[in-house]
Amino acid sequence: MGRSGGKKEHQIIPKNFGKLKTNTYLCTNFRGQMKIKEIVSALERFAPLPLQDGFDNAGLQIGLTEAEATGALLCLDVTEAVVDEAVALGYNLIVSHHPLIFKGFKSITGKDYVERCIMKAIQNNIVIYSAHTNLDNAQGGVNYKIAEKIGLKNVQVLDPKIQGEVVAGAGVVGELTESETETDFLKRIKRLFEVGCLKHNRLHGRLIRKVALCGGSGAFLLPNAVEEGADVFITGEVKYHDYFYYDNRILVAEIGHYESEQYTKEIFYSIIRERFPELDVQMTRVNTNPIKYL
Ligand SMILES: [Zn+2]
Repeated sequence: MGRSGGKKEHQIIPKNFGKLKTNTYLCTNFRGQMKIKEIVSALERFAPLPLQDGFDNAGLQIGLTEAEATGALLCLDVTEAVVDEAVALGYNLIVSHHPLIFKGFKSITGKDYVERCIMKAIQNNIVIYSAHTNLDNAQGGVNYKIAEKIGLKNVQVLDPKIQGEVVAGAGVVGELTESETETDFLKRIKRLFEVGCLKHNRLHGRLIRKVALCGGSGAFLLPNAVEEGADVFITGEVKYHDYFYYDNRILVAEIGHYESEQYTKEIFYSIIRERFPELDVQMTRVNTNPIKYL
């Protein structure tokens, strides 16, 4: 665990020494090993950092990516228990959806869980990398995974933004292969996402066929869902007054932030498994949901 630093000279190789870099790459692969930065590149090819929203802090959070990867632990949130898990497994890379760091620090003394995670990660030579709104907005990202779990077809971006030749953006909308009653649909969603308490607005006896959704705090897309003619909008968090406003406009299902995004780990898993089949990779066994239900 925690094989630190890699070889320092690699960090100062100028870009034009491409041949030397290629040789290094072949050499590390020959030993069945790879540097953390190669894994980061694979994640960023899937979810490019420029796709992230303005408020976000996705990308490398902590550590030196020149180190050889000893294993990757995948999670939604970085908590102390998750860092402990990585230490116990001997893995030196944690890939999370939610960034650990959002603000500047004047001191790091361990006074809250973020500072304690930072200290613990650095002490154990663990790299922390986060793919957040760039993964929300990416093709095949967080919302596509939710749509896949629900079994939606013809899945499209709900609020598309063209990035080069790629259609990216927030939320998705798709269709069920067979209509379901509101109650059957909501019960299925509750089971599927293991929701402790599924909140919804008044039922109107609609049949559910067209489903719009956005993992996490996605209520800002409610107008788009209505405009698309969706029968239901599923997200993690909805404000009280939205329930009034959308009362007879669309069925709103609030399933919890963690619950809605929990399968994001599977996206990381497939990207890393496919590119680095020999690397130890595991989804965290820690349920990091900070919200409990009575
Ligand atoms: Zn989230």
